[in-house]
Amino acid sequence: MSRVRLLTPGPVELHPRAQLVLSGPQVHHRTAPAREAFQAVREDLKAAFGTEGEVLLLTGSGTAAMEALVGGLFSPGERVAVPVSGKFSERWAEIAGALGLDVVRGDFPWGQPLSPEEVLGLLDRNTRGVLLTHSETSTGVLNPLAAIAAAVRSVHPDLLVVADAVTSLFLAAFSLDAMGLDAAVAGSQKGLMLPPGLAFVALGPRALQRLRPYGYYLNLDRERKVQAKGESAFTPAINLVLAARAVLEVLLPGLEDQLQTKRGHLERLYRIGEGRGLRPVPSRDGVPVPMDFRTPATAAFYLPEGVGFEALRDAFLARGARIAGGQGALKGRTFRISLMGYFPPEAAEWAFGVFEEVLEELL
Ligand SMILES: *Cc1c(COP(=O)(O)O)cnc(C)c1O
Repeated sequence: MSRVRLLTPGPVELHPRAQLVLSGPQVHHRTAPAREAFQAVREDLKAAFGTEGEVLLLTGSGTAAMEALVGGLFSPGERVAVPVSGKFSERWAEIAGALGLDVVRGDFPWGQPLSPEEVLGLLDRNTRGVLLTHSETSTGVLNPLAAIAAAVRSVHPDLLVVADAVTSLFLAAFSLDAMGLDAAVAGSQKGLMLPPGLAFVALGPRALQRLRPYGYYLNLDRERKVQAKGESAFTPAINLVLAARAVLEVLLPGLEDQLQTKRGHLERLYRIGEGRGLRPVPSRDGVPVPMDFRTPATAAFYLPEGVGFEALRDAFLARGARIAGGQGALKGRTFRISLMGYFPPEAAEWAFGVFEEVLEELL
């Protein structure tokens, strides 16, 4: 089978260091080297998330971390606010609803960055938390979380501010403590360039204080105690932990460069698309928003007039590349192209070339 490269916003092209580790023999998780790697990854992720608190590792996709966090921080009946403007912010609302919280859901246009005022409008005296999405992968929007968190704090100082950082960690500037956030989640198959299967929960000091037991498998309160010793309550995806360690070793020291490279890739993708008349999804009242409000995780465009997603997807596939379509409300109306995974310069140039060729062919 000829290889198809993933220009999709998760899962992504793997980091070669991850591939190397994953081809090695199985390691037992209750051994000293496994514990040591487990702790090293937790420490590295603490630095990546930018928190003085803790990072816990869960076996599952990013959504497992979202559920664990909602369950661990809030009790049934407690009020949380969720501004919804895409598939992943909607997921917060669905999880909170499934766990029996009192969900105040605000619906905003998909593709439009949230404003602090819009979020403040959802809060009242009884609100215990707000669930936000930093990089809304479904629309390509990067929400101004620091400004939103600051506005929330100034009016409701005790409220917990929780963020989905699944496609902003390692891709856009992120710092839990400095951005005024209390807790955040991420996963292995996005900016870390690993296969799916590991989820991360970052807990700042206030969230650690509020943590309570929840459920069985996704019980962060229990995990916190066990993970202090470098183990997890159940068999962890230890192979992925070892792979994470190998990737973090090179990714963390060069994080600034990585963020610049990814931003450069994003600008290039938008320049190519907009140059051919494509309309970016991140926009306000039909006007494309500045690059600061577009996530480096993926470029997102409305489909050109008269071109269906299948035709576009197949034109990419014919050249050995896979792109993603729209999700939820944007299904059948948009497409997404991403260089979130491992793209050294020559692979990135190849991807830009494919994009140009496809547009040349179809437009
Ligand atoms: C990928 C993603 C998730 C997690 O999805 P999983 O399929 O559970 O890994 C959550 N939020 C955002 C913004 C994502 O892009």
